Amino acid sequence: MYTQEEHHIEKGRLDPDALRIVERLRENGHEAYIVGGAVRDLLLGRRPKDFDIVTDAQPARIKRVFRNSRVIGRRFRLVHVYAGSKIFEVSTFRSIANGTVGNEFGTMDEDAFRRDFTLNALYYDPVESILVDYVGGFKDIAAKKVVPVIHLKDIFREDPVRMIRCVKYATTSGFRIPFWTRRAIRRDAVLLAGASPSRLTEEFVKILGSGVSSLIIPSLATYGLLDHIIPEAARLMDADPKFGPALRVELADLDEEARNPSKERRLSASLAAFLAPRLLGEEGLVADRQDSFSEALQAARAFLNPLNLPRVELEAAVLSLFERRNLNPNLRWRRGAEGEDEGPRRPRRRRRKGPGEAGQEGHASRPVPQGGSEPRPPAKSGPASGSPARPRLPRKEGPQVQGPKAGEAGHPELPQPGGEASQARKRRRRRHKPGKPADGAPRSE
Ligand code: ATP
Ligand code: MG
Repeated sequence: MYTQEEHHIEKGRLDPDALRIVERLRENGHEAYIVGGAVRDLLLGRRPKDFDIVTDAQPARIKRVFRNSRVIGRRFRLVHVYAGSKIFEVSTFRSIANGTVGNEFGTMDEDAFRRDFTLNALYYDPVESILVDYVGGFKDIAAKKVVPVIHLKDIFREDPVRMIRCVKYATTSGFRIPFWTRRAIRRDAVLLAGASPSRLTEEFVKILGSGVSSLIIPSLATYGLLDHIIPEAARLMDADPKFGPALRVELADLDEEARNPSKERRLSASLAAFLAPRLLGEEGLVADRQDSFSEALQAARAFLNPLNLPRVELEAAVLSLFERRNLNPNLRWRRGAEGEDEGPRRPRRRRRKGPGEAGQEGHASRPVPQGGSEPRPPAKSGPASGSPARPRLPRKEGPQVQGPKAGEAGHPELPQPGGEASQARKRRRRRHKPGKPADGAPRSE
């Protein structure tokens, strides 16, 4: 344990709502700490972007303690506590009984030993101003090292996304990755090919918003990880001598924007930066032609494969690249108004066919984890527009956890007439009405 004199975390730098949540849990007889990235950032003198809280209270109990909260996650259940426009993740100590990805509740010391790196496994008690360190994270931060908590033979096998996180922390903090860990990354890099696209997407989105993406993305390429996250981008970096430098310039501009706290960041703007060297670099993709929007969108999707980014954000990103070129593309393709080109291979009547004939789009046909990147309908839907479907820029962000977590939607989206959002809504309705046929037969509302 480290006291205030040793760790120097100033209480004034904590989020007052995070402090209140911890206090409330304590008043109700529970242990509660600030944990993870916030503690790491406070020790590094950085402003935490979110405050995660961990407690011995189980989700149902946390829910009862905070009226304004919601239990989320199917497998990994935790609680979102709402405070104004902010959302705090409150999770329960997890056990290591079934390895580091099991889901049983456990004790605080067990919880520490299933966190990925020692710099992420520190617990801060804001009431007593004490830092609790079971794994040597405090010293590792002082020594500027990203040290795994979990044994090297298991850490990446159990969750390959930890390799991305390792490189990210090393790059953002200027920390060293120990030799044996680097070796394990090289050995296990290929395991990322089997990682869940939603998890990869989650980390990719966080990286784009990190303010240091122009450093992290090349680092991922250096460690051989980019090949398995966004293979096409990695291939172009090797094959096209102009691509890498162009991407760095775009990402450096994006980072400058991202570091400006007063500016609102949108995923579509980040995606546009990442896509620009691909779509603007190749003659003809962003052009004044009948089908160029649809072609550019397909190229963008292929470029980002296997990531499953929200469709509306991707469309807005591609549209902004046309606007950069002062082009106003023809967007009627989505409704099939232009003949054969009905957009991204999703015939409008397809859902009427039997089960087993799901959409052909890569990301759409993959199972989407709970609330995943699939577009969500708005809280209130307006009247369906009869005008040509135009990709809409995402609305201003509502309450949001900074950086979406695996399998959670992080970006509010608007529905597109006849688009994936409305289909997703219909699919959901069907799911909630088990007695209904799966063929989308008309139903009375
Ligand atoms: P950042 O948000 O900048 O990536 P973070 O540390 O806050 O940093 P989160 O994804 O918010 O990262 O996770 C919160 C904490 O949960 C981490 O600090 C870590 O202790 C733990 N954690 C997250 N993902 C993993 C993982 N894949 N394996 C083990 N522990 C994890
Ligand atoms: Mg976090």
